[in-house]
Amino acid sequence: MEAEDSRSSSYAWKSILHGRDVILRGAKCCIGNGKTVQIYKHRWLPQKNHGLVLSPVVDSMEEATVDVLIDSDTRQWNNSMLEGLFAPQEAEIIKKIPLARTETEDSLYWPLSHDGRYSCKSGYRFLKEEAEPALERTQVAIETQLGKKLWMLDVPNKVKNHVWRACRDSLPTKQNLMQRTIITNPLCDRCNQFPETILHAVWACPKLDAVWTDSVQWGFRRNRRFLDFKELLSWVIQ
Ligand SMILES: [Zn+2]
Repeated sequence: MEAEDSRSSSYAWKSILHGRDVILRGAKCCIGNGKTVQIYKHRWLPQKNHGLVLSPVVDSMEEATVDVLIDSDTRQWNNSMLEGLFAPQEAEIIKKIPLARTETEDSLYWPLSHDGRYSCKSGYRFLKEEAEPALERTQVAIETQLGKKLWMLDVPNKVKNHVWRACRDSLPTKQNLMQRTIITNPLCDRCNQFPETILHAVWACPKLDAVWTDSVQWGFRRNRRFLDFKELLSWVIQ
């Protein structure tokens, strides 16, 4: 499990190491004697998420292993130690982890399958779930940044409000009304060619050519395509 990658490694070996990294990121430790599981570094809490301890690290215990939390005579969790070291919710979670009566080795299990064994399918699912929150965070960060820039613009508040609602796609365009089953035809009333999305209504509709070609600074309208209004606004104000 400790083998390292190098520049001369073959493709097959690199793939094996990549697979190992996925297993190490997703697998959880099953506590036996607790001697090989580090309290703050390894994933050993049996929750649905990452399984890492989130209580603040106690000085001089950075590398401590789980066995220090177990009473070696009774083979039970040392409750006063748990309550002293961890946030109350986390202490409760740990107290519920069953301990074997006799000393056993720690082991790894794969929490995303019924039998605890790794399979390609569940590995793929893990990678997908791991990537999604990151993507969501990035999108939220972009939107927050865009919002900040918008609020700093020197235009009346009602304009900012309207633009922000356009960004969040919360204006009653025909496309939105159709999605809410209020109307059945989403086509733009002006051109009768394209669905009336926000981007279409204020920017892309061919009937708006006269408005936008009036000024050279909007010349990019002819050759630049945008996915939605938010992308257009980012382009314009960043
Ligand atoms: Zn139109």
